[in-house]
Amino acid sequence: MATAYVGIGSNLGEPRRQIEAALEELGALPGTRVSRRSSLYRTAPVGHADQPDFLNAVARLETGLAAEDLLRELQAIERRHHRERSFANAPRTLDLDLLLYDGRMIASPRLTLPHPRMHERAFVLAPLAEIEPEADVPGRGPARALLARCAGQQIERIA
Ligand code: ADP
Ligand code: MG
Repeated sequence: MATAYVGIGSNLGEPRRQIEAALEELGALPGTRVSRRSSLYRTAPVGHADQPDFLNAVARLETGLAAEDLLRELQAIERRHHRERSFANAPRTLDLDLLLYDGRMIASPRLTLPHPRMHERAFVLAPLAEIEPEADVPGRGPARALLARCAGQQIERIA
């Protein structure tokens, strides 16, 4: 079994419902259970500002799936939520990112671990540090120290 952390984000189609549904679907993946989940966090959109705020959360999974297979399953869940990849940083009903997988570092065309932008995103680091205060981002450092460097980013814990 491996321990994986998944970042969940949504800003369309009742984000809270999208995230709760995604957590159910993550727990229903083959050989997988959700062992922890964070609170929900509200954040202003990155990049393209003219869109609704995001809700974000992080889940910890215990899984028998290989990292590449888990990513494929995450993408299948995104598709079921009718995500349309219109442009970078566009609004989305559901975004699932594989953040960490057993402390592994991978750089393949399909999968980069740790997730290549997680170390600079408060909306990932805050929920991660909530459920795993000692989390480490391989090659980057402790999640709490990385979060301290994101002080300019607006983020609000809502539940
Ligand atoms: P973002 O979440 O940064 O807005 P996307 O979700 O649109 O970007 O990007 C998904 C792409 O990134 C996919 O093509 C996927 O193969 C690739 N990718 C590489 N590493 C990861 C990872 N750790 N988690 C999720 N997607 C990844
Ligand atoms: Mg993504």
